[in-house]
Amino acid sequence: MRDCIFCKIIAGEIPSHKVYEDDEVLAFLDINPVNPGHTLVIPKAHHRDLLDMPAELASKLMNVIQKIGPAILKAVGADAFNLGVNNGATAGQVVFHAHFHIMPRMANDGHQLWHGAQANQDELAKVAEDIKKQL
Ligand code: AMP
Ligand code: ZN
Repeated sequence: MRDCIFCKIIAGEIPSHKVYEDDEVLAFLDINPVNPGHTLVIPKAHHRDLLDMPAELASKLMNVIQKIGPAILKAVGADAFNLGVNNGATAGQVVFHAHFHIMPRMANDGHQLWHGAQANQDELAKVAEDIKKQL
């Protein structure tokens, strides 16, 4: 797709540091890494976000994540990784070509997940019911 930075990376029009490639999936290093080894895993076909991708393709991306995750951890000496998707602008999605972030984590690296606040059981039950009604 024209004007898509990740499509340009796939086409080789913009340089990237690729770590994995097959017919349908590309993985390359994020230019603004959270930690060393921060990798983006993308479909070669243009889909704007996770929900726009066929489930089969999303599953292929997950297979690649399982394959390259351990290699990334070994390469950078990390203990673990966070897997992230910013799905939609309000969630922080900036590049509208579907992608997963693999973010290696080291002990005491200073990063932390968001904080939740304990909800009451009635609220949880209502939200669960509302979601199920939408399915
Ligand atoms: P998101 O907020 O999930 O849309 O994240 C987009 C990610 O793409 C950010 O973490 C950027 O650092 C990364 N990014 C943008 N342009 C490039 C590029 N040319 N090469 C590698 N990563 C990029
Ligand atoms: Zn694209």
